Amino acid sequence: KDVSGDSIRRRFLEFYASRGHKVLPSASLVPEDPTVLLTIAGMLQFKPVFLGKVPRQVPCATTSQRCIRTNDLENVGRTARHHTFFEMLGNFSFGDYFKKEAIRWAWELSTVEFGLPANRVWVSIYEDDDEAFEIWKNEVGVPVERIKRMGEADNFWTSGPTGPCGPCSELYYDFYPERGCGDEVDLGDDSRFIEFYNLVFMQYNKTKEGLLEPLKQKNIDTGLGLERIAQILQKVPNNYETDLVYPIIAKVLELANISYDSADDKAKMSLKVIADHMRAVVYLISDGVLPSNIGRGYVLRRLIRRAVRKGKSLGIHGDGKGAFLPIVAEKVIEMSTYIDSDVKTKAPRILEEIRQEELRFKKTLERGEKLLDRKLKEALSADKPCLSGKDAFILSDTYGFPVEITAEVAEERGVSIDMDGFEAEMENQRRQSQAAHNVVKLSVEDGDDITKDIADTEFLGYDSLSARAVVKS
Ligand code: ATP
Ligand code: MG
Ligand code: MG
Ligand code: MG
Repeated sequence: KDVSGDSIRRRFLEFYASRGHKVLPSASLVPEDPTVLLTIAGMLQFKPVFLGKVPRQVPCATTSQRCIRTNDLENVGRTARHHTFFEMLGNFSFGDYFKKEAIRWAWELSTVEFGLPANRVWVSIYEDDDEAFEIWKNEVGVPVERIKRMGEADNFWTSGPTGPCGPCSELYYDFYPERGCGDEVDLGDDSRFIEFYNLVFMQYNKTKEGLLEPLKQKNIDTGLGLERIAQILQKVPNNYETDLVYPIIAKVLELANISYDSADDKAKMSLKVIADHMRAVVYLISDGVLPSNIGRGYVLRRLIRRAVRKGKSLGIHGDGKGAFLPIVAEKVIEMSTYIDSDVKTKAPRILEEIRQEELRFKKTLERGEKLLDRKLKEALSADKPCLSGKDAFILSDTYGFPVEITAEVAEERGVSIDMDGFEAEMENQRRQSQAAHNVVKLSVEDGDDITKDIADTEFLGYDSLSARAVVKS
């Protein structure tokens, strides 16, 4: 069977269409929900239906949703499975079918339609969810050794302090079944497993008192990462080497005049970051986001800047004026098929925006380099050459020089850097921006956030409601 990314997407949608689901288009990366920054999961466009605020149009639906998760930014290129931009395949039930069908279909899709060997699929369930356990064990026939009960953090979805919530069950693929089964096996071990499909059973309402009342209308919300299932079916070592992403890397290799096999780890990381970020950048602009210093525009700007820096580290020069991202973006657009039907007609504008932003950043970088050079010369006239925290901060905040790069360059010239002073400046800025604008949170998971140093923003808080939907890790 055809295992190209396009065909996997089509087979998923057809599988659920033939089981009564209405195939609906991807929603924009800019959600209608004004409290949410970016679309992080397939369920977001259905949130009002799930919450019972809007009547359902159809009993059940299936989509391939373009998503961006800025909370995974630091994972890009580090793990084999995380992108900022990815496609989430999903099947949804609005008070129609429930746990039994959702589980059986997820299994049939995985093992029959996609042909994964049954002994390589493991499942996690919420520790108290005996109903899911029974279905997996008795109706599907998964041996109990491959059903893992996990706690609230991993397998219970809540939509906030109160409201709809419920347990989830996830499917993992085992790359090394020969390592055996047992209590000590950890599904979170990503040298052995990859999570690919999350099934959320929205079955309770959490009251103010913290009680779980059964919901009248029980919903199903799922998410299956297209790039991840492609990685598995195409038998490649990571999402980046699938046909959904690799051609973009190949374009960057051509521009850098190197080969993938000869690239060291650092270069591979740069290649992956550029490919990942340019997908995000193209679709963000297509959905109407423009580079700026606030909110979504700032996310976009940071992604472009990061890609520019990685290009620089690969020694890419680009066109006459030194822009190379539009060449990469062209490849992204050329590969775009299903996920955003408008992207091809919008191409000229998208490419021009990228080009301008890249050139703007290059100028800033050059000015920053000059400033750094001057500051280092000044420092060298002292007994103990040291770059102040304040200067390091200005370089990072205004000129986009990450402090690690400043430190590296300084070290090469025999200058140390006042990291405590730098941290103090960062902390100071964080405090100020929080006091002035409330807490900004773009993503629902902790960890590095692309927007943590936004000084000014139009967003007042983040609706953890929708976000937590399928974002439990
Ligand atoms: P992980 O634990 O690997 O970070 P997750 O638990 O955060 O994934 P979910 O919120 O359950 O992911 O999302 C549903 C599915 O979407 C995942 O099972 C996975 O297939 C896919 N997915 C989630 N995050 C990413 C990402 N950053 N890049 C690619 N695919 C992703
Ligand atoms: Mg998950
Ligand atoms: Mg997870
Ligand atoms: Mg995650």
